[in-house]
Amino acid sequence: MNRNVLVFTEMKGSVLRQVSLEALSLGQKIAGDGSLVAAVFGSQASRYAEVLGQHGADQVMVFADPQFDRYQADIYYHAYRKVIQATNPDVILAGHTVNMKDVAPRIASRFGYGLISDCTNVELNGHDLSFIRPIYAGKAFEKKRFTTENMFVTIRPNNFKAEPSPKVQEVVFCEADNVDVQTVIRDIVLKSTGAIDLAEAKIVISGGRGVKSKEGFGPLNELASVLGGATGASRGACDEGYCDYGMQIGQTGKVITPDLYIACGISGAIQHVAGMSNSKVIIAINKDPEAPIFQIADYGIVGDLFEIVPLLTEEFRRRLA
Ligand code: FAD
Repeated sequence: MNRNVLVFTEMKGSVLRQVSLEALSLGQKIAGDGSLVAAVFGSQASRYAEVLGQHGADQVMVFADPQFDRYQADIYYHAYRKVIQATNPDVILAGHTVNMKDVAPRIASRFGYGLISDCTNVELNGHDLSFIRPIYAGKAFEKKRFTTENMFVTIRPNNFKAEPSPKVQEVVFCEADNVDVQTVIRDIVLKSTGAIDLAEAKIVISGGRGVKSKEGFGPLNELASVLGGATGASRGACDEGYCDYGMQIGQTGKVITPDLYIACGISGAIQHVAGMSNSKVIIAINKDPEAPIFQIADYGIVGDLFEIVPLLTEEFRRRLA
């Protein structure tokens, strides 16, 4: 197997997204004896050239320019175009992130790449590649193959392992072109959804209508902080005004795949389950033993979340001390 693979990495603020390293590890497997190039963008981009080399990149293209610190489709599109023209990759990989959902179809159509998005697994059989992705809100999986020569694949965070594999990488510093932008972003209002990105968190503690108030999220935040996780929510909790919609998980919220998902006071409506059913381990805490969430939970605790969550926090704090 011998393919040239390009990975578009992504930063959140000044930090490289974990899914970028996951894409690089996958890229190594797909490239085989071919080349693996990583492109990194933003004023802090140079800091990550070494890290990307340690995760398998043969070459790192660095666009160390502050204009990439804030996502703007035209600016990114032109930089991506430059990288594609310079590397002519057989396969492009990137995280299935909000920004990539915006720009990937544009790149794919302009450069004649087929696009398979939101992959959770890849099967490699000799030279054949099959891509697995969830459909019907996570109720089933489809296996797809490209009919095009060139492939563009976005991967869902937390589904591929980021494995270090040091290479002696070449670092190329690139200049971004001046771009005539069609839209101007005047301001970005950040919502307080916690320090850890929900989409990439390994542990998520979620609250539903059963949390009963804004303050009711207090014990959940505490448990999340002890476990180094993020706090999420059902739409029920968001609709009640207990938390921000940025925390919503489900069909019309975020789709996540953490290692551990703890659902507190969430009934388990199909629209919620669509966003978290592929979590590796699911724990449900609900005082109603008939709550549908127990049907998909690996472990169920029947009881009052306001009694159980503090007990869990205390026990984890003791064990992790
Ligand atoms: P409820 O269904 O009211 O459940 C609350 C649960 O808390 C109950 O099971 C109760 O037994 C338990 N409880 C109460 N008090 C306690 C306590 N002290 N301790 C323990 N347990 C307690 N929902 C989403 O979540 N995400 C989506 O993306 C989403 N998209 C939607 C899209 C569409 C088009 C539609 C129509 C709906 C969507 N919904 C979504 C809404 C969804 O159908 C449910 O209404 C919602 O998920 C219910 O939220 P909930 O489980 O928090 O509330």
